[in-house]
Amino acid sequence: MDKYAVFGNPICQSKSPIIHQSFAAQFGDSISYQAILADKDDFAQAAARFFLDPQARGCNVTLPFKQQAAAWVDKLSPEAELAGAVNTIKREVDGSFSGYNTDGIGLVNDLLARDIQLSAKRILLLGAGGAARGVIHPLLGQQPAIITIANRSKEKAKTLCQLASANNLSACGLAELEQSQRFDIIINSTSASLDNQLPAIADQLIAGAEVIYDMVYGKEDTIFMRHAEALDVPVVLDGLGMLVGQAAQSYKIWRAKQPELFTVLAQLRKQL
Ligand code: NDP
Repeated sequence: MDKYAVFGNPICQSKSPIIHQSFAAQFGDSISYQAILADKDDFAQAAARFFLDPQARGCNVTLPFKQQAAAWVDKLSPEAELAGAVNTIKREVDGSFSGYNTDGIGLVNDLLARDIQLSAKRILLLGAGGAARGVIHPLLGQQPAIITIANRSKEKAKTLCQLASANNLSACGLAELEQSQRFDIIINSTSASLDNQLPAIADQLIAGAEVIYDMVYGKEDTIFMRHAEALDVPVVLDGLGMLVGQAAQSYKIWRAKQPELFTVLAQLRKQL
């Protein structure tokens, strides 16, 4: 039986085992998928132990190991390289290990599956942390009109903009956004919602958007989602679909099959 796992610390909260077993059921695949708690500074040994088993085909990696995983693999996808972080590892037929970052493709696929096109759209990406780094390339790949990265610490946004380097990409501090600017899609990649805080941007920016996406998810709508709903934004989404989407991309990398997202998403939503 092909074996997979997710490494993290903590790991008990991980939805990955449920998601991947649901994908496997879609195809009648029989797989094993374990959640493995690794010591905080011991990812390399934990991964090496797991891959000693010849049936181990790949793994996911979550906090705090995404950077350690990027250093551990033999080669990186362009998204993983820009992010400096790996959430998916595949053992190749030659025995080498490839590292991917599927967060951005997960986000894009979630939006596209909801018929939200990104091409020619004006996108505002709030935040410049690890999640923002992971999504820039896949977002650019959809050929939006512009992407503006706005972060509380302006320098971090500028650095990400320089690293990703594209003509339609710019960066600024949150405080420099002007209320007269217009964005079609606003993606909140900050962790502010976890602290029940709103990124400090003008309401007019939010009210003018067609779609608001908060990468954070939970049982209840986040504060950012509630704020956007109060401002009558037509489409307000949380990041649960991105979570399922990134897992689907991992499954595709490992098993060359594209899982359907919505059944698993509905199942997961009930369990939040
Ligand atoms: P990081 O710690 O790397 O970055 C945090 C970012 O949030 C920084 O840009 C930081 O700004 C900003 N920030 C934090 N608090 C505030 C605030 N009060 N106001 C404005 N900006 C704020 O985290 P990640 O990028 O790894 O993750 C961000 C979020 O994305 C997390 O909440 C995570 O749960 C979610 N996520 C969801 C995924 C999904 O599948 N749905 C996948 C990956 C992440 P500054 O630089 O100024 O400190």
